[in-house]
Amino acid sequence: MTIPRMHVLFPFDPDTLLSGVKEFEAALLKELKKRNLENEVKVLETGSIGVTGKGILMVVYPEGVYYSNLKISDIPRIVEEHFIKGRPVKEFFLGEVPARFVKREKLGLVREQRRVVLENAGIIDPENIEEYIATGGYEALEKVLTSMKPEEVIDEVKKSGLRGRGGAGFPTGLKWELTRKAEGDEKYIICNADEGEPGTFKDRLILEGDPHKLLEGMIIGGYAIGASKGYIYVRGEYELSINRMQKAIDDAYKYNILGKNILGTDFSFDLEIKKGAGAYVCGEETALIESLEGKRGQPRNKPPYPVTHGLWMKPTAVNNVETIANVPPIVMRGAEWFRKLGTEKCPGTKVFTILGHVVYPGLIEVEMGTTLRDIIFNYGGGIKDGKKFKGALVGGAAGVFVPQKLLDVKMDFDSLKEYKAVLGSGAILVLNEDTCMVDMLFSIIRFFKHESCGQCSPCRIGTYELYTLINKVRSGEAKEEDLEMMIGLSEVMNDSSFCPLGQSLIMPVKSAIENFREEFVAHFDKNYRCEKCRR
Ligand code: SF4
Repeated sequence: MTIPRMHVLFPFDPDTLLSGVKEFEAALLKELKKRNLENEVKVLETGSIGVTGKGILMVVYPEGVYYSNLKISDIPRIVEEHFIKGRPVKEFFLGEVPARFVKREKLGLVREQRRVVLENAGIIDPENIEEYIATGGYEALEKVLTSMKPEEVIDEVKKSGLRGRGGAGFPTGLKWELTRKAEGDEKYIICNADEGEPGTFKDRLILEGDPHKLLEGMIIGGYAIGASKGYIYVRGEYELSINRMQKAIDDAYKYNILGKNILGTDFSFDLEIKKGAGAYVCGEETALIESLEGKRGQPRNKPPYPVTHGLWMKPTAVNNVETIANVPPIVMRGAEWFRKLGTEKCPGTKVFTILGHVVYPGLIEVEMGTTLRDIIFNYGGGIKDGKKFKGALVGGAAGVFVPQKLLDVKMDFDSLKEYKAVLGSGAILVLNEDTCMVDMLFSIIRFFKHESCGQCSPCRIGTYELYTLINKVRSGEAKEEDLEMMIGLSEVMNDSSFCPLGQSLIMPVKSAIENFREEFVAHFDKNYRCEKCRR
């Protein structure tokens, strides 16, 4: 048997798939066969390497060369020059790579990441359970099932200080403890993979890059809280996520990692995927539970909370994808190790999606407490096309518009809270000097108006009124009091709306108007030229 001298990795994610990576891979395999290289060059598929907007990507080892924006017509040249003559084709290099494989000094602007959740993404084949096992996968599960009581698992997670990565930052160990202690003959663990905010795709790429890590975390969580059944609630449009997760589940059953008497122990656990129908409000845990029960996805009144009255009114722990994916490393390496990462109150790492007017859009994982400046200008490579930074929408659509003067804010739950900002979905939308803030706020209000479930009047009517007011600003008919009305209305919504959807509009509305007021006022003049609003 010939041992391959080269490995070619194709990151398969929604971005590369849309660019035609499948067709490119097939064409490359054909070319390799034509030149009798199919045994020397091994072609593999992997998850996202965290780079978006760069077309078809290809990583070649042993050199660790990253190619981007590839076309099928480039294949003969790459095969000839690189695979046969050993001369990588610089013309197609990605350039500075936001990966952890290359030392910082080689990268210039882009810095080495601290990957925990994404440690295997872009390296292993996510559809091959044996590759996950080869990286030490399922050792944490074995440790838990053979040498730890459920309470000890909860203690370890509590000691680690892990906080929910879905946005709220609630301590995961405490949530598990409350669920375990709650009375109920049946308990459930649910993974919330219903990412619905524009510009947010971190959970999707975590799941697609390393589905077994999520699966392992779910089984450990189920054991800790005393559940024998778990659900992964995934957004229905996430076809690749669903397929990869289903493959991981099927393989886990074959390996006795799911099902009856897991790994020969007394613990049995089943896992199922549920597809969401695409409502943003179903990211709220009680709306998600309603949807999972087959009802209309609308939030429930709280309390009681899901930890005591969740799915089918049984104790239920609902955790986000990133949160659960942190559990196997914590179990294996210990709470102390985890606490050395990040800040004292927010230990660990955080996965961010960087988007907008930035040189390297994509996905990064860095320690909690990394500054916004560092993320945008080092990891993201700064503002593209030589433009100036204007602001950033931090935390997703329900986040805060951060101006230049706050660029040194630390990105963790508590530091952001001081500025009335949130970590939210982990999305950072970077805006250059040409961005119209009125147009930005219009897009957000329109999104919330569309996604309001209509159950409570402050949100149902409030989003409509805000939409009317922002349109007044856009058309040059607004006055100063309309801006005050927008802030006041969002404050009322914050106080009286039933769920976080209506409560959180205050953040983008207030921060946009207060930090960029001059621009809003400039729009009061009908003759003001704005290419975004008044085309
Ligand atoms: Fe529905 Fe909005 Fe009320 Fe939430 S705040 S329950 S989304 S109407």
